[in-house]
Amino acid sequence: MSCSKDTPKTSLEKLEKGNKRYVYEETLDERRDSSRRLEVSKAQAPFAAVLTCSDSRVVAELIFDQGIGDLFVVRTAGNVVGSIEKESLLFAVEVLKAPIILILGHQNCGAVHGVLEDGDALELLPDIAELIKPAVDEAQGEGADRLRSAININARNMALVLKNDPRFAKLIKEGVLDIRAGYYDFNTGKVIFFDPILND
Ligand SMILES: [Zn+2]
Repeated sequence: MSCSKDTPKTSLEKLEKGNKRYVYEETLDERRDSSRRLEVSKAQAPFAAVLTCSDSRVVAELIFDQGIGDLFVVRTAGNVVGSIEKESLLFAVEVLKAPIILILGHQNCGAVHGVLEDGDALELLPDIAELIKPAVDEAQGEGADRLRSAININARNMALVLKNDPRFAKLIKEGVLDIRAGYYDFNTGKVIFFDPILND
């Protein structure tokens, strides 16, 4: 098992640059071929961990123009952090030494929308809905604005869940980990990185 040579800062820059390549359709694809697959077959050293929604349109490797072995990805409907997601991300940062975790919300998230509408989501996905609910309660505005607000707050809340956990907080304090949240826009392909979040 090897580990990433990146820092929180260089990892964030890689994500930002990769998203620009994706948006402007200047993608690099040499990291997705059989030679790259073999290169990382013995060990992985992802430079970032990303928690996204399971939504079929939110494909981290494409959005950030990365290849095999570059991203450690956890996906759930509504990009929520429960105990299993937390352990998965802890593996990424403790064992694989990924220097950054990005929680990525996205446009028109169906899970967040379902909770906002108080509809089927609550009955169908009670555990997920419970984690999303505080963001919906805090959301501002009407209609699409309220959904957007809830999606952003939900991503921020999930980043805070991790930041407030002493196992992650320790790594942040040591300067080897950053935890950020962001929003992915389907229309433009752009990821908006939110400002660094303070602990509660
Ligand atoms: Zn979603």
